Amino acid sequence: MNNAHSIILEAKGLSKRFGGLIAVDEVSIAVQKLGVTSIIGPNGAGKSTLFNLLSGTFLPDNGAVHIDGVDVTRLSPEGRLFSGMARSFQITNLFFDLTVMDNLRIASQVLEPRSHLYLPLEKSEIALKRANELLEEFGLEDSRGQLAGALSHGQQRRLEIAVTLATRPKLLLLDEPTQGMSQVDTHETADLIKRVGLNTTVLLIEHDVDLVMDLSKTVFVMAQGRKLAEGAPGEVRKNPLVQAAYFGEELA
Ligand code: ADP
Ligand code: MG
Repeated sequence: MNNAHSIILEAKGLSKRFGGLIAVDEVSIAVQKLGVTSIIGPNGAGKSTLFNLLSGTFLPDNGAVHIDGVDVTRLSPEGRLFSGMARSFQITNLFFDLTVMDNLRIASQVLEPRSHLYLPLEKSEIALKRANELLEEFGLEDSRGQLAGALSHGQQRRLEIAVTLATRPKLLLLDEPTQGMSQVDTHETADLIKRVGLNTTVLLIEHDVDLVMDLSKTVFVMAQGRKLAEGAPGEVRKNPLVQAAYFGEELA
């Protein structure tokens, strides 16, 4: 299981400094193909910065990022799309004044052959087909004609994951997708993420510890820019370092 072929994403000794602050400090992680792998840690631990390094939003000061064994450290986020990486952001990137359907069609437009890229939306057959698949898969059929801005918070986050999956990435990075959600929406989203993990590798940053423990096959714990622990959820929960640095504080 642990051989090089089953690793889809690898960070090697990544560091990122903001002025005097070391936000990410020599972090190495290896993410296995498929399922959900999570990164947890207190606020300010460096989780989002690590994501920005993995997605190419920031260049690291040190270290490397490999996708499927290929060094992508110097590639832009767009460059990484072609290696099958897609990400969602802590802040939404939906078009609020467009319908659910149009958000999905625009996101799916990239699947059209190059010569069709500038076709009007209504003529983009491949995008239309993909958008319909996503509507069904994400239970959004009833709101297909609604403006994205008029959806509930939970539905918006759901649509956002659907938009991110439009191009069928093999690796999906999700930064706190349940932030601000009600309990019901959080549970629905968790189920959805689990399902997405059946045929896509999901790397998830999540604040809700119980949710992470239930969803993930592997958990990385960060604190103060460093990787504190890694392993199966049960092991990580028992780790005294983690208890002290994270659970002690968060669950007190
Ligand atoms: P987390 O996502 O775990 O809450 P972040 O990665 O957002 O943590 O932040 C880690 C540290 O880096 C924090 O101290 C934060 O204030 C700092 N930081 C994050 N982004 C920037 C930035 N663009 N400029 C300066 N400092 C930043
Ligand atoms: Mg964050």
